[in-house]
Amino acid sequence: MNWEEFEQCPICGEFDFVSRHRCPPAWYVRIVEDDDRYAEPMRVYARDTEEAAEKFGENWDSWGDYPLLSGEEIAVLVSPCDQPDDEQGFIVTGEMIPEYRAHATEVTP
Ligand SMILES: [Zn+2]
Repeated sequence: MNWEEFEQCPICGEFDFVSRHRCPPAWYVRIVEDDDRYAEPMRVYARDTEEAAEKFGENWDSWGDYPLLSGEEIAVLVSPCDQPDDEQGFIVTGEMIPEYRAHATEVTP
């Protein structure tokens, strides 16, 4: 394995070995909000529609105050880039995963 070949793909953003890398399929994901049904779709690279919806949610959440991690949900429509009319709907939610850390220090028993 040649680790010098391990790079981030400039197209899909995945880290992989460049010589054998193939980008996952491209999807259009758009958020469905009240009257904003025709919001600009975002291009997302993912293995399937569900992963595309999740990746969109992660990205969308980071633009704001992480509403998904605070319990809100969004509705999105996902379609293959070459078949934009073939849309599938998803509700995207988030979950904050607690993480604990320890560091060594002097502790009096
Ligand atoms: Zn790629």
